[in-house]
Amino acid sequence: MANHDGIARIVVCSPTKLPSFFHDDLAGHCAICQQPVRFRPHVPAVRVLVCLECYIVHAEPGANCEILSEAAKELAALGVPVPKW
Ligand SMILES: [Zn+2]
Repeated sequence: MANHDGIARIVVCSPTKLPSFFHDDLAGHCAICQQPVRFRPHVPAVRVLVCLECYIVHAEPGANCEILSEAAKELAALGVPVPKW
C-alpha cells in the first residue's frame, strides 16, 4: 500500500536462502535477525525489512498483512497464488 505519511512500513521479505521468483529483486537485511533478505523494487521507500521467519515468530496475533497491488500483479503474471496471511 502507498505510504505518504512518512511512517515506515514493515515489509515482509524472503530470506535469500529461499528460491527467488524475480531476477531484479533488491538485497537487504532483516531488521531483527540480520539475515540477508530480498525484496521487490516497488516496496515503500520508508520501510523496515523483516524476514518471513521473524514475521511468523514476532507478529502479533491477528496482525493485518497486506499485499501490494504491484506484488499481486507480479505473482499473478507468474501464476503464483497470492499468499493469505
Ligand atoms: Zn529475521
